[in-house]
Amino acid sequence: MAFKRQPAGKSDADPGFNPSRTPDLFALTSEGYIIAQDIACQYEYIESQFCADCGCPLHVIAQINRSYQGLNELVTACPNCGRNYNFIFDVSNDVYQHWWAQRLGDLYVKNYDGPPRRAVRRR
Ligand SMILES: [Zn+2]
Repeated sequence: MAFKRQPAGKSDADPGFNPSRTPDLFALTSEGYIIAQDIACQYEYIESQFCADCGCPLHVIAQINRSYQGLNELVTACPNCGRNYNFIFDVSNDVYQHWWAQRLGDLYVKNYDGPPRRAVRRR
């Protein structure tokens, strides 16, 4: 897994981009998880976040695959002061799972048994 940033100007040709994103993108679930609807959006979200201490853009330093919980966690660090911020994205929602299933075809495995989470409030 590479952590390179997605190039600006996303298109349908980007394999990490879901052209069927909905307005629920980046809304929060009742648990406070951030609704993700594809892979690219998670990196887009990080690009819009800044260190609370010094205002620097954050860099992704690790990804924690929690798909068995219907989650994906990105660990970021401020390149200036080193402060860490973790962002937990929901990937159990119907939009993400439908997109993921379409991408993987026969390789798709649903490895989270719980009900899909839903957006409860917009950012
Ligand atoms: Zn900082």
